[in-house]
Amino acid sequence: MEYLFNDWNSIWKQLKAAKHRVILFDYDGTLTPIVDRPEIAYLPDEIRVMLGKLAHRPGVTVGIISGRAISDIREMVGVDNIIFAGNHGLEIEGPGIRFIHPLTDEIKSAMHVIGLVLTKAMARIRGVIVEDKGLTLSVHYRMVDTEHLQQVDDIFDNTVNIVRKVGKIRTSSGKKVHEVRPAVPWNKGKAVQMIMEKFLPKNVRASYLSMYVGDDLTDEDAFEAINSAGGISIFVGDGRQKSAAAYYLNDTSEVSSLLAEVLKIT
Ligand SMILES: [Mg+2]
Repeated sequence: MEYLFNDWNSIWKQLKAAKHRVILFDYDGTLTPIVDRPEIAYLPDEIRVMLGKLAHRPGVTVGIISGRAISDIREMVGVDNIIFAGNHGLEIEGPGIRFIHPLTDEIKSAMHVIGLVLTKAMARIRGVIVEDKGLTLSVHYRMVDTEHLQQVDDIFDNTVNIVRKVGKIRTSSGKKVHEVRPAVPWNKGKAVQMIMEKFLPKNVRASYLSMYVGDDLTDEDAFEAINSAGGISIFVGDGRQKSAAAYYLNDTSEVSSLLAEVLKIT
């Protein structure tokens, strides 16, 4: 990965020349630093103001694609004219776009049951938060004592194992969180493709530009989707880490600088 601002001249030119730009961000760890409890991962005011400005610029579409439920991410961001994709893209809503995965009802009732079982199984470990997000589940363990971490992993695996074995769910682990997702062929990458097809028509894609900024494993699908559309993929974190992204930024404060620079161009 190349440090984004080392190549800023070329990116500046692409952004400037584009007739339309689709600029997409993950939320946690990308626009806000990761914190102990997800409910206090507030968006810094300066970022909210910049996102609001960018979202109203002609020739720009802004989207936020998160593992959070769509109602949650919309409330955390609190900016209008933005596309929100929740639950890793299983639900997408914004000006000119509305998508919800066709198996929603089925998925929700299954997730609810798994959530109840996980909550019960994790009850004796302090600091675990089992979050039922409707279409997916998160087990947050950032606040758990180090000595109990192995227990969290074991309980999680034992609980989800049978359902996972029969192919009904998939699990993944990100930054201090285990995720349970329905085993449907859908992810942040598919959500990115859907948004691009809507806002960047294929026949004119050469003069259009897409960009995605994310920090975690579930963002890798999005990076790949952006790469194959000729867009700019940006990982937030250690540039020596393995990622499909072409560029990296060190932390969320540099994402803030990126927003400021993009606002100067558009
Ligand atoms: Mg993230």
